Amino acid sequence: MAQAAALIRRGELVAFPTETVYGLGANALDPDAVARIYAAKGRPAWNPVIVHVADVAAAKTLTRSWPERASRLAEACWPGPLTLVLPKSDAIPDIVSAGGDTVAIRIPSHPAALSLLRSADVPIAAPSANRFTQISPTTAQHVAMGLGDRVSMILDGGPCEIGIESTVVDVTGNEAVILRPGQLSADTLSHLLGERVLMRSHALDHTLEHAAPQRSPGNATRHYAPRADVWLTSPDDLPEVQRAINADSTARVGVLAIDGGIDATGAHRTLHLPATPGGYARGLYAALHTLDNEGCTLIVIQLPPAGASWDGVRDRILRATR
Ligand code: AMP
Ligand code: MG
Repeated sequence: MAQAAALIRRGELVAFPTETVYGLGANALDPDAVARIYAAKGRPAWNPVIVHVADVAAAKTLTRSWPERASRLAEACWPGPLTLVLPKSDAIPDIVSAGGDTVAIRIPSHPAALSLLRSADVPIAAPSANRFTQISPTTAQHVAMGLGDRVSMILDGGPCEIGIESTVVDVTGNEAVILRPGQLSADTLSHLLGERVLMRSHALDHTLEHAAPQRSPGNATRHYAPRADVWLTSPDDLPEVQRAINADSTARVGVLAIDGGIDATGAHRTLHLPATPGGYARGLYAALHTLDNEGCTLIVIQLPPAGASWDGVRDRILRATR
């Protein structure tokens, strides 16, 4: 840990566990260090990174103002999987905010992340520790496979508890707006604030709910995506899934099903995830990594039900197909 903290202070990259996914960390106050994050990930400069801090006092030094909503949410959810977007102070280099005048901040709850933040004694900018558009890592092995030769150190804290990225909430305006859904749902946040919480309209595309299986266009706008093509499906579509598996003997089909859900025969591998949002999120990226690493050319994903508690999971699955 002492070595990891020294590397951060020297401007180098350290991958570390958080409760959501593994982060690719650099000193958030050092623009050259943050530039190394973008270079290692191949991340475009327009995509800002989240800054991790050990306590609220540190968060406040990075912001120009601290709205009442920030106090309430921080008190209820930190340390935890919630990121607040706030007006940034001059302490935050432009490269961290992608040139914008806001900064995204969170206090992670993973003991190794907190220990690193306290030892390094600087805020740590950290996006997910994967190459741009690839699947986010939930184990140190995932990080090593994707970025092993591009980081100075990987701290191994075992598999991530939550498994999908934090809920990002913009509290700079007159109403709180979820920019990215996560395990903390709109319902939960709305309950905590005692008011409605908006969902940025394109954060989720509910129109796909009843869509027939669709082949992904495989274009460059995909995020959190495996290399394979992805189909979204429902138990009603099982005959069509079965036909697709039978029809093409050259395809290596992986199926990601929900416990008690679709069961096709003849797939290269079928993995089942729990029928609860928490359990599903915890296993999602590891399952996608497994199917991808086994060379699946097509991954069929049974889409979980709609509803606020599934928003985070559905968002990541939908992004895997765009
Ligand atoms: P990642 O670090 O890979 O989990 O992605 C970070 C995400 O946080 C970005 O893609 C944005 O959606 C969001 N984000 C980070 N900073 C800001 C900001 N200043 N304003 C709005 N969203 C932000
Ligand atoms: Mg990411």
